[in-house]
Amino acid sequence: MKILLNNNELNEALYGVSNLGFVPTMGSLHNGHISLIKKSLRTCNKTIVSIFINPTQFDNNQDYKKYPKNYKSDLLILKKLKVDLVYLPKKKHIYEKIRAKKIKINKKDKIMCAKNRKGHFEGVIDVMDRFTKIIKPNKIFMGEKDFQQLHLVKKYIEKKYKSKIVSCKTIRNRNGVALSSRNLLLNNNQLITLGKLSRKIYSIKKVLTKKKNIKRYLSNKIRELNKTYNIKIEYLELRKIDGLKRSNSTKKSKLFLAYNFNRVRLIDNF
Ligand code: AMP
Repeated sequence: MKILLNNNELNEALYGVSNLGFVPTMGSLHNGHISLIKKSLRTCNKTIVSIFINPTQFDNNQDYKKYPKNYKSDLLILKKLKVDLVYLPKKKHIYEKIRAKKIKINKKDKIMCAKNRKGHFEGVIDVMDRFTKIIKPNKIFMGEKDFQQLHLVKKYIEKKYKSKIVSCKTIRNRNGVALSSRNLLLNNNQLITLGKLSRKIYSIKKVLTKKKNIKRYLSNKIRELNKTYNIKIEYLELRKIDGLKRSNSTKKSKLFLAYNFNRVRLIDNF
């Protein structure tokens, strides 16, 4: 496994490589990341994993500062998986060039996290654009846990580059909680509560087919869930998988959830 610390080392290592798979991460690797990496290892000639906590996608400096960092154990995991290349850039390597035209999210895409986290997806798309330009991967592996991110990045990157975005299923723990690096900021009891919340959301999704006014039903549920689980829900919305428009039926749709729990912001979809 080669560790690449700057763009010269990166260019040298990528020379002549074909069918390259890329897994972008912010580190603190868990089985969710590992499933993406394994898919890349299975389907590509070489796999490059990046670990970079991208400052520009945080709308809150505290959130950026407390984001978990576990470089040592991450490298051990990657070595064990027999990943070919690991890219650990510094901010200056990624942001050395100033962008001529600012990234803008369409008005119709300003929903869910794009509405609630100002500048977040602009930061995500910017960094993905920069990564894709320098790495030129054939495939980029991304998780469905961050569904809106996957949707927006796919739209942007596949229009501009030849790289294909490969979507990968959400990996959950045995209580049904979606794995997330941010789970490291919670204790065991809190994770058990989140397991109960996940089961509750699944049961809500099941009864939605019988409800006449889904939007109103969900806003009532938000109040109930906030109280029961001591959380603060930002949104709980039923939307079409394709295009993320509001949906009136569970057919080809997902229930999207964002909430704060113990000052940790979490997202999931069901
Ligand atoms: P992050 O390190 O949180 O930026 O995530 C890096 C990649 O891993 C993104 O494409 C995420 O969607 C994906 N990912 C994170 N958690 C999971 C999960 N539980 N299941 C599948 N993919 C995930």
